[in-house]
Formats: sequence, structure tokens, C-alpha cells
Amino acid sequence: MADRLQVTLELGGMTCDGCARHVTKALQSVAGVASAQVPTWQAGSATVVAEAGTEDAALVRAVEEAGYRAVVRERRRIEGERAFPAEAKADYDLMVIGGGSAGFAAAIKGAELGANVALVEAGTIGGTCVNIGCVPSKTLIKAAELCYRSAYPKFEGLTACPPPSDWQRVIHQKDDLVAALRQGKYVDVVSVYPNISLLRGRATLTGGRGVHLNGTALSPGKIILATGAHAWAPPIPGLAEAGYLDSTAALSLPSLPASLIVIGAGAIGLELGQLFSRFGVRVIILEGGPHVAGAEEPEIGQALTQYLAEEQVWLCTNTHITRIERAGGHYGVRAQIDGQPETCAAEQLMVATGRRPNTADLGLEVAAIAVGPRGEVAVDKHLRTANPDVYAAGDVIGEPAYVYVAAYAGGLAAENALTGAGRLYDLTALPHVIFTDPQVASVGWTEAKARTEGKQVKTAVLPLTAVPRALASRDTRGLIKLVAEEGTGKLLGAHVLADQAGEVIQAATLAVKFGLRVQDLVETFHPYLTMVEGLKLAALTFEKDVSKLSCCAA
Ligand SMILES: Cc1cc2nc3c(=O)[nH]c(=O)nc-3n(C[C@H](O)[C@H](O)[C@H](O)COP(=O)(O)OP(=O)(O)OC[C@H]3O[C@@H](n4cnc5c(N)ncnc54)[C@H](O)[C@@H]3O)c2cc1C
Repeated sequence: MADRLQVTLELGGMTCDGCARHVTKALQSVAGVASAQVPTWQAGSATVVAEAGTEDAALVRAVEEAGYRAVVRERRRIEGERAFPAEAKADYDLMVIGGGSAGFAAAIKGAELGANVALVEAGTIGGTCVNIGCVPSKTLIKAAELCYRSAYPKFEGLTACPPPSDWQRVIHQKDDLVAALRQGKYVDVVSVYPNISLLRGRATLTGGRGVHLNGTALSPGKIILATGAHAWAPPIPGLAEAGYLDSTAALSLPSLPASLIVIGAGAIGLELGQLFSRFGVRVIILEGGPHVAGAEEPEIGQALTQYLAEEQVWLCTNTHITRIERAGGHYGVRAQIDGQPETCAAEQLMVATGRRPNTADLGLEVAAIAVGPRGEVAVDKHLRTANPDVYAAGDVIGEPAYVYVAAYAGGLAAENALTGAGRLYDLTALPHVIFTDPQVASVGWTEAKARTEGKQVKTAVLPLTAVPRALASRDTRGLIKLVAEEGTGKLLGAHVLADQAGEVIQAATLAVKFGLRVQDLVETFHPYLTMVEGLKLAALTFEKDVSKLSCCAA
């Protein structure tokens, strides 16, 4: 490989994603430039890889002619070498199978390391999050919230938004947003990286480093599996014959049903159950376990059950479904609820009982890759599979299935695969959010988990009636529970049920990640009339009765 340069430019004048694309194109058009990357317009910088003779002035001129400003900040020679050893006879240095969040993160990291990357996608580019997961669900949840608050104004004068009663219009708006984000965050991003080739088709492993794609045998240097997961339904008698909605189908229903039974009260079942209820659908959620949101603190599940019931979302826990039937355009679900036989009927049925990795027909066996009990690709702490040339990331390796985990894992897998860096897959202090209203957000250990880990713990539970922000907003639904180590006072877990709990949890995440004590929260400024002030008040609850404190927890 000839000597090359890496030039870092500081950019000015960019105000949107389109600007970042214009600058990227301008830099790519300069003779001798191999790649140009402007990660985001906010980043305000570009990284260019070019032949050694490429002049700084030519790069600056290209940016200026496109209408922006540029200054060269760094120029360094890449001594004709890559950040990783090239495999002999490889078609690509790296092949990433699956073009979702994990796959994109892997491909981009590979490209940044100078690799020649193939990104293979069998379906819709962008994968689950943008097309059928986070983005469509959260935009519909927001629409449902506006609809609900307009119809039942608890916050007089605060909602001027008319109810989006026209479901089809809302669905179209959701589809427009999905299309725009898919284009901006995935399709366009591929073109920023000239050393990523997007290949369409379904890839299968053929053993060793072999991949079969569209009738062609390929042999990349390293492979990353990022094939995601699909909705899974339990083997309930009659379910397959009756048919049902999964979350994808539910988020694109052509019209609203009058009534809906949701099986499963995990994150997706709860979020979508409340969403449909707020659009006027009669919703019953059936849950096998003793609590909704079973992985959360029981106090949170109980309180959420009450709030949902106040909105006419009926939740049945300890439900064992014995049979599902469909007749006369209605579903009938027979079940034992708390040991008593019951029958529920509704126009529609949605199953939200989890997702399973996409590993069938991937050729794992022939590639000597082991799988776990749910079909997930088994990986070590560096995300390497049993086949030393194949790594895996994202939902395909099983829980926890969050998009930010998938993206983190994809980048890490690419770096480890290409450079042998041996970076650890570390999920310490991983926060998560259930986007109900109020939201559930959690980080670290629950009280029960801390005890099973052998910790002596103390806990504090603060109702939101003690949080000034909640009082001022006239929404005191929720609570904050902190779990701390007895003796040291180290914060082991924080669990929040509140409006905007997803924002509150980030402060607790830093505290858990960096081993802070409850007292550190108490001694840290928290702005008055913010929801995150609740964390400080909850921390104070370990020692004081916060109802007797003055303003600002003084
Ligand atoms: C309704 C719903 C709501 C969600 N909400 C959130 C949320 O709010 N926050 C959050 O963090 N997470 C959320 N998630 C989870 C999140 O979407 C996933 O964890 C994440 O998108 C997984 O990314 P991935 O790259 O591992 O897989 P995917 O995005 O599923 O990508 C896998 C890709 O691989 C392709 N593929 C499969 N097999 C092959 C093959 N053999 N050859 C080529 N291509 C193949 C597929 O077509 C797919 O595009 C939600 C999920 C759902 C379903």
C-alpha cells in the first residue's frame, strides 16, 4: 500500500446534516483523496485519508468552494500500513452481516481503522431500531400522549395540541419520520465511507472464513455477525392457528381495533398497551409473572399497574393461558388467572413475549459457532465466537437488547476482530428505560439482586409527592428507590418511576459507574425544580424525613 496521509480539518459554517454531506462530497472530489469523513455537522471536523502528495490547500479550497470554512489542524503520515494485519487472499478485510445498529457501528469502526469493509443486509437497511423498533414506537407513544392529555387534560392550559384522532395520519407521519431517519442515519452514512461496500442479500457462513452471498463464495479476513432478533411467541395451544400481531404489525395497523389483548407485560407490551389505550382502544394485558415489568423493583411494577388501571388499561398478572381461539372476528383467550378460570375476548391480539436471535439458516454449525439456549450466538468477553475469525454483536448475542448496547458492541467487535485489541465487553452500570407514562428507568442492582450478590444493603424509597418538580407539574405519579451498600453507602442501584425518568437516570448512572456514595449525591448541587433533584431527595431519605425539609432540600 502506498504512503498516505491522514489530515484533520476543523470546519466552520455547517448547520445541518446536509452541510456535513456537502463538505464530505467536496473533500471526496479532491484528487488523491481516498476517504473523507464528517461524522456529524455538530462535530465540526473532518478526517481525510489521502495520497501522500495531497496538498492541504486543495482540501481547504474544496471546502470553501462548497460554501464552508476549513483550517487544517493535523497532518500525519500513515506509513503504508494498516492498523491491523491483512489476511491473505481476503475479498474484504471485514464482512459485517446485518445492516442494523450493531452492523453499522461495526462497519464504521472497521472503516475508521482503514479496513475494506463489506456490509451485508438482507432486508431493510437500518434494521430494527429505526424501521420497526425504537423510532416508530416512540413517535407513536408521543402522539398517543398528546391525544390522551388533550382528551383528559390533567394539565389545564398546558396542552394546546389537538388529538391526533386520525390514526392513519399518525401512521403516515410515523412512516415519514422513519424514512427520513433511515436515509439520514443509515443510507447516507454509507456514502460517507468510501471503504464500506453495501451488499444486498442473505449471507450464510460456509465454514472457516467462508461466506456464501447471492451465489458467490467470499472469503473475508474477519466476519462480524450482527443479524439481530425477531419477535418470538410461546407455544400456546391455538395461537399459531388463530394468528396474532407482533409489535411490528401492531405499529403499522391500517386501522385501530375496538379492543386488544396484549400477551406479555415487559417493556414492549406495556409501552404498546398504553399507546393503544390512549388512542381509545380497550386494552387488557396478560402477564404470566407476579408483576408487570418483572425485571424492575416490585414497588415500581405495583405503582405502574395502578396508574395504568386509572387509564383503563387492565393488567392481569399470574396468568397462565391455556388456549386461544378465533371466531366471528374476535379472539378468545382462555386462562387461569390467579388460579381461577377466565376468558377474555378482543378484536385484536398482540404477542409481546420477547425476541429471539436471528440465527436459523446462518450456517453457524458448519462454521463451528456455538449457540446458547435461546439460539443466541455464544461469545467470549471480547465478543469472539468459538470460530476465531468470527465475532458477533447486538441482539444476535441475546440480552440485553438495547440499541445503544448493540452499537457499542458492534464497534468493539470490529476493533477486536481487526486489531486483536482484546477490549472487554463491559456492561457495568447499564441504564435502561421503559417508555410508559410515567417512564420506568433503572441502573445497577435491584434490592433483590444486591442481596443475592451477598451484599448487605439499605434502601430508600421516595414518593414523587416529595419532589417539587412533580408537584409543580401536577404529576406526582411515581417514586424513586435507591439501593446502597450498608456501611460504605456506595450506590448500587437507582430505580425511578416518573415523568422523564429516562433523563433522571443518567445522573444515577454516573454515580453507579464511578462508585459514588449516597452522601456524594447529597453533597452535589441539583437544580431546584428539576426532576433529577428527586435523586438528591431520595439520597437524603436514608438519613432524614424529607417532608420536614425546607426548599432546595435545605
Ligand atoms: C418495538 C421495539 C421497540 C424498541 N425500543 C427500543 C428503545 O426505545 N430503546 C432501545 O435501546 N432499544 C429498543 N429496541 C431494541 C432495539 O431496536 C434493538 O436492540 C436493536 O435495534 C438491535 O440492533 P441489531 O443491530 O443487533 O439488530 P437489527 O437492528 O435487527 O439488525 C439486524 C439486521 O440484520 C439483517 N439480517 C439478518 N440476517 C441476515 C443475513 N443472514 N444476511 C444479511 N442480513 C441479515 C436484518 O435484516 C436486520 O436488518 C426496541 C425493539 C423493538 C422491537
